[in-house]
Amino acid sequence: MPTRYALRMNCPVKGCSGANRVASGWVCSKDKDTMYIDEDGYLSCQTMAHRAQIVYWKFDCGQRGSGSNHNYERYQSADLEGFTHALSIGMAHLNEGGAVWLCKLITNIEKQYKG
Ligand SMILES: [Zn+2]
Ligand SMILES: [Zn+2]
Repeated sequence: MPTRYALRMNCPVKGCSGANRVASGWVCSKDKDTMYIDEDGYLSCQTMAHRAQIVYWKFDCGQRGSGSNHNYERYQSADLEGFTHALSIGMAHLNEGGAVWLCKLITNIEKQYKG
């Protein structure tokens, strides 16, 4: 079984200026519970009712108005660059999971986007 940690990162949507979820973490839009990330490259909510590969997930950081990409469609996909960039900024998961965990995660994310 993969090890999952609460998802803490900037908004991964390309060009989005929203960074207001860094500290508070992300919540499932349906269950309003905490989102987790595991080294297999899956995002899941607390109850595991929703679990999918990152490539299929859509994000809304709550940012609205000028400088927001969520104005027209709230939930946006993240591209590989945006997601790995967002992950690397906080580095919270490096502390929790360690370098091996993070390395595995990045490898699996790349596979999703390139495979
Ligand atoms: Zn859920
Ligand atoms: Zn955003």
